Amino acid sequence: MRGNLYIVSAPSGSGKTTLLQYLLRQFNDLKFSVSHTTRQPRAGERNGVDYFFTDREAFLAMVDREEFLEWAEYQGQLYGTARSFVEGSLEAGRDVILDIDVQGARQVKKKMPDAVSIFILPPSFAELERRLRDRRLESDDSIRRRLEIARGEIVFYRDYDYIIVNDVLEKSILLLEGIVRGGGAVPPRQEDCIDDIISSFGGSG
Ligand code: ADP
Ligand code: 5GP
Repeated sequence: MRGNLYIVSAPSGSGKTTLLQYLLRQFNDLKFSVSHTTRQPRAGERNGVDYFFTDREAFLAMVDREEFLEWAEYQGQLYGTARSFVEGSLEAGRDVILDIDVQGARQVKKKMPDAVSIFILPPSFAELERRLRDRRLESDDSIRRRLEIARGEIVFYRDYDYIIVNDVLEKSILLLEGIVRGGGAVPPRQEDCIDDIISSFGGSG
């Protein structure tokens, strides 16, 4: 039985990392796909945990070897999802979660239409700006660019299966958990158990 694939996208600063940290603590079996990126690590980020930090040349060599399930350029930097980790985990029956941008989400949905996609929206543009500034991780220039990118990204919310407006954090966490729990209730995830129940009635699934 293959695992479920979840895709989470959001404009930078919406609270996606915060939400995913809660989620991953709740679901021990959920595997986070660590992306490769050419951007510099931010304060506190660890190689192999938050990202695999790499240079452009090594990244492009991976592209040539078709090692990415998807990849995209964001704010002049390259970001990509390793195919082997995702496919290996799903094959082993583990659920996997991808934190990727709207371009990457579109590529993955095309290849894997069963993937469950979730878009996180900030409550407003002003609140997004406030969160980016409060985070104090980037220069004013980088924040301005991220806000510009956000204007282009939010229109893609329509492509997603679920939307979470991340206003009150506790409510957003409950919604996200609900979506992941629900993913375990779809028929393909319960085939073995359903077969046993049906045969206990004397029938065959
Ligand atoms: P992202 O991963 O989407 O870039 P972060 O998780 O780093 O965003 O969150 C950006 C900032 O907003 C952080 O300082 C975080 O603590 C704060 N934040 C996240 N969710 C909420 C929320 N629901 N209400 C208020 N602040 C939030
Ligand atoms: P950040 O630099 O803030 O960590 O991420 C910037 C953007 O890149 C976010 O929207 C994040 O979801 C996205 N991102 C992170 N990893 C990947 C990836 O592997 N592929 C794609 N397409 N986007 C990614």
